[in-house]
Amino acid sequence: MTPTPGPDPGRDAAGAGGRGLLPWSRALPDGRGGTGAVLAHTTRAGGGWSPSPAPGAPAVGPYDGLDLALHVGDDPVAVRAARRALAADLAPRGVREVQHLQQVHGADVAVLRAERLRTAGRGDLPAVDAAVTDVPGLALVVLVADCVPVLLADAGAGVVGVAHAGRRGAVAGTALRALEAMRDLGARDVVAVLGPSICGRCYEVPPGLRDEVAAVSPVAATTTWDGRPAVDVAALVLEQLSGAGARVEQLPGCTAERADLWSYRRDGAASGRLAGLAWVPA
Ligand SMILES: [Zn+2]
Repeated sequence: MTPTPGPDPGRDAAGAGGRGLLPWSRALPDGRGGTGAVLAHTTRAGGGWSPSPAPGAPAVGPYDGLDLALHVGDDPVAVRAARRALAADLAPRGVREVQHLQQVHGADVAVLRAERLRTAGRGDLPAVDAAVTDVPGLALVVLVADCVPVLLADAGAGVVGVAHAGRRGAVAGTALRALEAMRDLGARDVVAVLGPSICGRCYEVPPGLRDEVAAVSPVAATTTWDGRPAVDVAALVLEQLSGAGARVEQLPGCTAERADLWSYRRDGAASGRLAGLAWVPA
């Protein structure tokens, strides 16, 4: 299938100096004439980059495209190549280091400050679904395929965060905890961008699960197009963050409906992952 353009193709990309592997990005001004933070998102199409299929492999395999996940059964050599390509793309935009999260559908937040990064080995970072930092040049990366990628920034304060909010994480308030952790670092005026995720019409669940989520927030309880119980996770996260004072925006694109977005629900376990990123340029 020919990939369709990425989420909101080209939007803001020119202003952010948009480069190959990030079809969507936004540079946020720091209020002093510079860029205080950048938020960005990949698609499967990767802005045109894709690894060559192995000899004899089908032209389009389940992982073809820009897959950045080492835990989904993809060839680790190809994934590491994709991560190197992304890091090379980010370097001219003030990124010195890329930090992927080890996500476990929990609600814990890692606070990555300069002192911690000096004293703890990178491999020692805990398994968490959210991270925040005020370290310039450190790009935080959240990987998703249907779950909601939450990108957070206070460009004036120089504080950014990312969170991975699936149904469980949203109910647990993972994104809210990330917002609180940013405020502990001095953030006040926080912009939150929700990247592409599975939409409420496509995310059918058993009735009991919908009731559980509805008990947290009625806005998340919905139905599929044909009337079966469903959950709108992004609506829940949007309500949580806007209720807590963040300025929230949602990027267009349902992962299950668009061929250029990875979807676990549509494709099963053999599916790559999209990346949402946030960083303070060095
Ligand atoms: Zn959908």
